Amino acid sequence: MKTDIEIAQEASLKPISEIAEELNLSLEDWEPYGHTKAKLSDKLLDKLSDKPNGKIILVTAINPTPAGEGKSTVTVGLGQALNKIGKKTVIALREPSLGPVMGIKGGAAGGGYSQVLPMEDINLHFTGDLHAITSANNALAAMIDNHIHQGNALHIDPRRIEFKRVMDMNDRALRQIVVGLGGPLRGVPREDGFNITVASEIMAILCLSNDLNDLKKRISNIVIGYTYQEEPIYVKDLAVEGALTMLLKDAIKPNLVQTIENTPAIIHGGPFANIAHGCNSILATKTAAKLGDYVVTEAGFGADLGAEKFLDIKTRAGNFEPDAVVIVATVRALKMHGGVPKNNLTEENVDALKAGMENLKKHIETIEGFGLPFVIAINKFPTDTENEVQYIEAWCNEHQYQVALTDVWAKGGEGGIELAEKLVHTIDSDNRNFTRVYELEDSLETKIRKIAHTVYGADDIELSSKAKKQLAFFEEQGWGNLPVCMAKTQYSLSDNPSLLGRPTGFSISIRELRPSIGAGFIVVLTGDVMTMPGLPKQPAALKMDVTEDGKIVGLF
Ligand code: ADP
Repeated sequence: MKTDIEIAQEASLKPISEIAEELNLSLEDWEPYGHTKAKLSDKLLDKLSDKPNGKIILVTAINPTPAGEGKSTVTVGLGQALNKIGKKTVIALREPSLGPVMGIKGGAAGGGYSQVLPMEDINLHFTGDLHAITSANNALAAMIDNHIHQGNALHIDPRRIEFKRVMDMNDRALRQIVVGLGGPLRGVPREDGFNITVASEIMAILCLSNDLNDLKKRISNIVIGYTYQEEPIYVKDLAVEGALTMLLKDAIKPNLVQTIENTPAIIHGGPFANIAHGCNSILATKTAAKLGDYVVTEAGFGADLGAEKFLDIKTRAGNFEPDAVVIVATVRALKMHGGVPKNNLTEENVDALKAGMENLKKHIETIEGFGLPFVIAINKFPTDTENEVQYIEAWCNEHQYQVALTDVWAKGGEGGIELAEKLVHTIDSDNRNFTRVYELEDSLETKIRKIAHTVYGADDIELSSKAKKQLAFFEEQGWGNLPVCMAKTQYSLSDNPSLLGRPTGFSISIRELRPSIGAGFIVVLTGDVMTMPGLPKQPAALKMDVTEDGKIVGLF
């Protein structure tokens, strides 16, 4: 069997100018970034404002195994399939982070015959957006420490600085550090720490901004910390929003690439869905909706994380609604939810599969709760057996859920035609009644409770004393009407990664809240979730190399 990178390296790409032409873009709408990548103008969406919007399809999933269940693969394959049945489709995806690339999970450019290309570039430095976000973030961190060093006119309390440094790598050694050591010439010592770039508020802002002005406004509203009197200090108080926006002037432009079958794909922004809001940029999704009759886009991890935040946060900030949802399920993850250990997932086990269906059922109920029509995609793996696949299909038919066996990894668009046709039919039947989980007027605590009850299936929430104080303080600051961005493990519906299937009788423990006022939400940290991951014992990096003639090997 060929690896993803071998398949990608054999594919033939069109020059990006041809993809731009097929989208009827004129020269002012895009600029080449090499032969196969382009930056779209950040003014393009505005220019297309009179055009009707295409239908937006959101791809989500059940709680995954550590390897991922193929949401990106299905997103790409479905886009290819829709084009095959004559529906003009543009894909919108997130940019990969180097943390998972070097770590355990792998890249985020799809897989098999459903990949976006050039996958090496997309998975590595791409067009530099993550580096620009990292630079803007760390420029702000440097400005904060410099301000304190130079006399601290704003009375920033060094013990109450919320804004952290970031890097685009899993590096647990940097979670908690002390900066400014070494005497007066080296600054003022204080406790600090690093997050991974995809958890940076600047990443969230880039993804939730509707244009460059909006970006600057949101950056000026980042709360960096508090004074000794516990008054919030904003970026606008430091007067560096202009410089930070300048560093992001190219990063805000969405990136245009193509799939293995030359379907256009816009890849832009990449927050994780467990520790951030988990969706590609609003500019990418909305531009794709102007350029295609259909958009296929993805939100990270299961419907408890990415989809909830797509629907409660992103659609509010971008003022749009999706038309249908795809729920990706795999035989291997369902068996894992039915109690099979990770090393035995390739053996047939219909009984475990039966038990694991409860996890899919919960995510279906969540999407039904949002009032959105959906189709279940069984992402077919080579190890799935006939009996297992038939069991899932029979279960779906019994519950009258629409289901399509999807083989886009092995067959490209051809393997997703049934899914594409079912979705088009579902969208045409227009039986949607979009309702969000909470109202903005709800208190922060009510919002958290509503998500915990209806999306996670929790009985209750447990607030730490820190979280209780913060809830009261944030309400006092007038931040109570913002959405909440839950940070929770992706493996379980609960906050405990080892509780698989559909756990019941549990509470969600709320450890801490973090204000992301520029992004426009309050981050709620549950359980032990960390905003700087670590690398595993055997990182994927061990398999990677570049040959003497510059060819990359082992990148999945
Ligand atoms: P997600 O977006 O849900 O995290 P990805 O689409 O990135 O998942 O897929 C994770 C990994 O699984 C990739 O390496 C991909 O090649 C592989 N994969 C996805 N679908 C299949 C499949 N049907 N058969 C075999 N491997 C697959």
